[in-house]
Amino acid sequence: MKVHEYQAKEILKKYGIITPKGFVTDKAAEGSEIYGKLGTPVVVVKAQIHAGGRGKGGGVKLAKSAAEAAEIAGKILGMNLVTHQTGPEGKKVLKLLIEEGMDIKHEYYVGITLDRKSSKPVIMVSTEGGMDIEEIAEKSPEKIITETIEPNLGLQRWQASRLAFALGLDGDYAKQAIKVLMGLWTAYEKEDASMIEINPLITTGDGRVLPLDCKLDFDDNAQYRHPEHPDLRDITEEDPLEVEASKSNLNYVKLDGEVGCMVNGAGLAMATMDIIKYYGSFPANFLDVGGGANPVTVTNGFKLILSDKNVKAIFVNIFGGIVRCDRIANGIVEAAKNVNIHVPLVVRLSGTNAEEAREILRKSGIEMIVVATMAEGAQKIVEAIKK
Ligand code: GDP
Ligand code: MN
Repeated sequence: MKVHEYQAKEILKKYGIITPKGFVTDKAAEGSEIYGKLGTPVVVVKAQIHAGGRGKGGGVKLAKSAAEAAEIAGKILGMNLVTHQTGPEGKKVLKLLIEEGMDIKHEYYVGITLDRKSSKPVIMVSTEGGMDIEEIAEKSPEKIITETIEPNLGLQRWQASRLAFALGLDGDYAKQAIKVLMGLWTAYEKEDASMIEINPLITTGDGRVLPLDCKLDFDDNAQYRHPEHPDLRDITEEDPLEVEASKSNLNYVKLDGEVGCMVNGAGLAMATMDIIKYYGSFPANFLDVGGGANPVTVTNGFKLILSDKNVKAIFVNIFGGIVRCDRIANGIVEAAKNVNIHVPLVVRLSGTNAEEAREILRKSGIEMIVVATMAEGAQKIVEAIKK
């Protein structure tokens, strides 16, 4: 689960990391009042969306007077902000963070995430902070310095020192940077984050080191340890269909193809998407209805799939192991009574009680193509779309 920059900065404060003073608002007119409260000649008006690259997209702007702060706030609020992370459709800006402007001496990069290769957290720093860390990683990876963190020991002080010195910091700057790095690690661990990224971490002309930006992603598997985290969720940032799906306990991910998929088991769902592509079409979604699929989940699954306007056909691919195929077949029949399935439907049921299941579907009189194998199903669905 991602959170906004202003929420991430609140969390950093809990771990002793000082962040710039700022206020959140959803009203442009408050821009001038906030300018007055901050009391610095320059303030920064920042769009709060769950995506990076806001600076380049026009979502981060400096204001030098109360009037200008309100004017810029008015321009950014409500704008459709397109960045390299939002996709071409962009994100509507509903909230702003207005912060005291900083006298930036240099911009650095710091990130902590899980390194899947070593199965350990890794902390990365670079002198090339600011906007384009992805480009640095690709073109000059030697400019990113990393330390692997032993999960049982945590980030060690000598590691933080090594990183601070590698950034060319010394004296009081190094001391402050070490404190920030240690604090970030503690936040990462205690909050069960899967990623914390500070881009940029800055040094200022008046001798301070502080994060100007912060991206934070929680590991959802650990949510049971953090009853306070769901309050930080902003569902306006999530895909509406995915929000609906999570309400009915379905694992749904919206994609941009045309074949709606209803599958049990994540592995089979992945394989189903692959085979649809193999036969020449594209999946409209990933949907795992789980092992306990019943008429209610199947009905919700159909509703979800059909509320995506791109869907031109639906492929139901169920392997009956724990869940018996006849129950799924009854679920489909039940669902067809409640939901108007107005696109071609191809059903493959295999495994426990598959024969009985096919019989139930045939007798139901519902228009559908019943197949025995996945490959046949994928071929039929592609044909159905082309017609
Ligand atoms: P992102 O583009 O979504 O990563 O948003 P950031 O919060 O990182 O802001 C983008 C850029 O705006 C930063 O790299 C800075 O160069 C600039 N910026 C942000 N805050 C300030 C500030 O207080 N003063 C100045 N001069 N520039 C700032
Ligand atoms: Mn940034």
